[in-house]
Amino acid sequence: MHRNPQRTCVQCGSKTDKRSLLRIAGKAGAGWKPDPEGGRPGRGFYLCRKSECVEGFVRRIRTPKGAARWKMGTSGAALGEQISAWWAGAVNG
Ligand SMILES: [Zn+2]
Repeated sequence: MHRNPQRTCVQCGSKTDKRSLLRIAGKAGAGWKPDPEGGRPGRGFYLCRKSECVEGFVRRIRTPKGAARWKMGTSGAALGEQISAWWAGAVNG
């Protein structure tokens, strides 16, 4: 029996079942989007669905240095807003 695929959270570095993480999908230089269903094409990276990781990551990509890690440029702030909006819905709804 196969184990569920594991992925590493880019914020805290812990390894968890891929399906329990939030996927961020897209491509360096072309933009990234939150992908909670995990179905978007392109590359992806993952975050724990925990406020420390989600909020910490959003703060990080709002800075030019943090956004540069994924070549987000100024779109890091826009992605941060999308993630924050998704997270507010995930927590409250
Ligand atoms: Zn994490």
